[in-house]
Amino acid sequence: MIIGINCGHTVKGTVGSGAVGYLNESDETRAVGYPLMKKLRELGHTVIDCTDDRSATVSENLRKICELANRQWLDMFLSIHFNSGGGKGCEAYTYDGTDKACAGKMLTALKNAGFTDRGIKDGSRLYVVRNTKAPACLLEVCFVDSITDSELYRRLGGDGVADILCRAIAGRVPEYEGDSNEKGELDMSQYEELKGMIEGIDRKLEKLENPMIYNYIDDNMPEWARATVEKLSSRGVLLGDGDGLKLSEDMLRMLVICDRAGVFDK
Ligand SMILES: [Zn+2]
Repeated sequence: MIIGINCGHTVKGTVGSGAVGYLNESDETRAVGYPLMKKLRELGHTVIDCTDDRSATVSENLRKICELANRQWLDMFLSIHFNSGGGKGCEAYTYDGTDKACAGKMLTALKNAGFTDRGIKDGSRLYVVRNTKAPACLLEVCFVDSITDSELYRRLGGDGVADILCRAIAGRVPEYEGDSNEKGELDMSQYEELKGMIEGIDRKLEKLENPMIYNYIDDNMPEWARATVEKLSSRGVLLGDGDGLKLSEDMLRMLVICDRAGVFDK
């Protein structure tokens, strides 16, 4: 198949970049759309990226998307969007509200993943549906302003939703998805080694972030430093303040070295 895919609006932060709620429509249409394009290409399909990142106006953006789609003959055109406005679930728009461009399959697949299926609706008023020549579907994956939708989407991830749509459109996903070695995943011993390294780094970080400070000559004070610190505080050399002596381990070492060298006995 030759498939045109459009990642919704322009990029985040530009004019008309889409809905913003718990999710950012502009970011997530790309987080779904680009992996979807990659997967379909790996399955042998030709994918035309009909995304326009920057336009001065919304109408310029819509016109550019249709130009990209209409440059060649397409078997289907899919425009990926995220909805807003207080609803919940997925919905699709086609020119006459009938099932085309895999609209029904995509909605069923999203429903199976846990989203409410709001059905296929009349999209004849929507610019990219009306002005693309190919059978077109504008898909609203879910609502950016719904907590439950956003949480479900986050659990699936953009790549997970891309898998769902890829199966709906192409009937399958590229084979490496299930093969841990080709995906570059770790075997058990590599995993254990990495885990050990991370735990080591964690311990070092913990020490760096929470260095041991000795404020009092108590049980926490290391045995090797106690006599020196006692001597210096009894002589009034080490005073500290209301919060204690504030000695780090390095400072303790320095004091003990100086003490052994006889610095304080002169
Ligand atoms: Zn949108």
